[in-house]
Amino acid sequence: MNPALRDSAAHVFLEAIDNPVLGDEDAHHLLRVLRLGESDPVTVTDGAGRWMTALVGKDGSVEPTSEVVVEAAPKWRLTIAFSLVKGDRPEWTIQKLTELGIDEIIVLGDLERSVVRWETKRAEKNLQRLRLVAREAAMQSRRVWLPIVSGLRDLATIDDLYIADPAGAQISGSHRTLAIGPEGGFTDIEKKTGVGLVSLGDNVLRAETAAISAAVLMSSCRTKEG
Ligand code: SAH
Repeated sequence: MNPALRDSAAHVFLEAIDNPVLGDEDAHHLLRVLRLGESDPVTVTDGAGRWMTALVGKDGSVEPTSEVVVEAAPKWRLTIAFSLVKGDRPEWTIQKLTELGIDEIIVLGDLERSVVRWETKRAEKNLQRLRLVAREAAMQSRRVWLPIVSGLRDLATIDDLYIADPAGAQISGSHRTLAIGPEGGFTDIEKKTGVGLVSLGDNVLRAETAAISAAVLMSSCRTKEG
């Protein structure tokens, strides 16, 4: 990672980098919560690979202090699809997958053994909340590519999908889209939806542990094999 990103006092997503303006909530966060001064360097990004260093004025204005840096897209995109789990674990999972560099996170719709189901009319609102979690996690981890969070989708609509299963093949860089099942696991029919099964190790993991392990292993394969 570029040291300017790593060392910035805060990292913020903007609508457009050519016309840098902080949103009200971000301005509040930087000035009131983090109490940044006018000389604390921040980094700002459009979430699509473009970023620069800047200073934030007391009124929330953004003063660029570098040229715009254009970061290349990752060598290949990594996608994890997961089933809803109980409580705040979906938020927690999204946060961790974002920190670990996953590019696209898909929330799966109803599966045979789903324990948690979203009412259709609340799905979009719930997804918006998850997108906010991803944005905050991307700020914290200094990402310049904002992950896409989508849902609710069926297994059959996802291209080149592998299914996470302890009986699967050892994971490699060719596994770029992986689905994690619900606590009760995928049914045999659901397992056949993908192009193959992929293992994350010998032990049977909880769904959220499996999702996080998948993110670590897939990112590591991308670093090593890319
Ligand atoms: N109740 C199920 C376990 C489900 S665990 C059972 O006893 O078999 C939830 C999901 O995590 C699984 O559907 C699978 O997709 C994933 N998972 C758990 N451990 C895994 C492993 N070692 N390798 C790959 N996927 C795993």
